[in-house]
Amino acid sequence: MNCRDCHRYDPETETCKDRKLNPKSWEQAVDCANTYGVRSVCIFNDHREKLISGFTLPVSNKQNLRKRP
Ligand code: SF4
Repeated sequence: MNCRDCHRYDPETETCKDRKLNPKSWEQAVDCANTYGVRSVCIFNDHREKLISGFTLPVSNKQNLRKRP
């Protein structure tokens, strides 16, 4: 989504009221996530879901197979 079309955009300061980032390219989105964390990326951003799935690590099966004392 373009920030200027969003209800959370503040035209006076020309910034997001929620202080979120809205990177346009995938490379910019990865840089934002690596620098500020995935939560810094706007929920309306086209790359956010892909970022979240990339940052979610699978649970190791070894932990599930550990014997209990
Ligand atoms: S960063 Fe997201 S929430 Fe903020 S103004 Fe832009 S589109 Fe809206």
